[in-house]
Amino acid sequence: MSRVIDLHTHSSVSDGTETPVRLVASAIESGLAAVALTDHDSTAGWTEAADAARGSALTVIPGMEFSTMFGWKSVHLLAYLFDPSDAGIVAETARIRDSRLRRAENIVSRISADYDLSWSDVLEQTSRGATVGRPHIADALVARGLVANRSAAFESILHPRSGYFEPHYAPDPLTAVKLVVAAGGVPVLAHPGTRGASEVIPESKLKALVGAGLFGLEIEHRDNTASGKQRLRELATTFGLATTGSSDYHGAGKPNRLGENHTDPRVLERIIERGTGSAPLSA
Ligand code: AMP
Ligand code: FE
Ligand code: FE
Ligand code: ZN
Repeated sequence: MSRVIDLHTHSSVSDGTETPVRLVASAIESGLAAVALTDHDSTAGWTEAADAARGSALTVIPGMEFSTMFGWKSVHLLAYLFDPSDAGIVAETARIRDSRLRRAENIVSRISADYDLSWSDVLEQTSRGATVGRPHIADALVARGLVANRSAAFESILHPRSGYFEPHYAPDPLTAVKLVVAAGGVPVLAHPGTRGASEVIPESKLKALVGAGLFGLEIEHRDNTASGKQRLRELATTFGLATTGSSDYHGAGKPNRLGENHTDPRVLERIIERGTGSAPLSA
């Protein structure tokens, strides 16, 4: 049995339901060879995950899922092995987390006009210092008995067209790629094909990202459509980009299971060769 490499997971440092320690235990129980911890806009789980993996056969790849905005579309950028103390990354992620916090408060304030939900309900669902997102509001709605689960919340009250929604600040993808590369990291576009082939990032924009050091495309991901994946494979060939696969595990917060998609060990070797800002955490 070949051992599986999963390069995209979330802990309670963002919107996953497991602490970094529990997530590492889950990865070990699942028999993964390597797991990347990629919380939204935060590296706060890295040390805990590294400590939890010590002495095991699991390699932890320190990473992050960087929120960016291309026009009015949210684009996620996975970043691996960058320097977590890099001033550019520290400043930009702090700005995003601050904006996420204010935006969540605004969304909750609008919801509270129609439903019995308060900001303290959301805080109860959020680990101290975590990157706040709609999933925490979803958990508060579930706890209040207003929706059945996170998915139901996203399809109703948290939907962008619900009237309660607002976006948060995020930089352009090109800015984010440059920041990651400058911090010694390896950038990979996360789930870029979720809206089908015609909605994949335009070739001219992708060219600019590649010019700035984009390394790869996350193609094997449950949210990428069949036509989106096909288009991404063509673009990977055109631009000589690596391709990855991963679960986007959020613990109990999503149906995604660890290792449900995986990355070729040779691609991980190239990521490790290229990433100079921090080291993989292995025994
Ligand atoms: P936000 O970044 O606050 O806009 O919230 C988006 C996050 O919510 C994404 O990172 C997803 O992980 C999560 N999410 C989106 N849709 C769903 C869903 N249907 N069920 C659970 N989580 C979701
Ligand atoms: Fe998430
Ligand atoms: Fe994402
Ligand atoms: Zn994710």
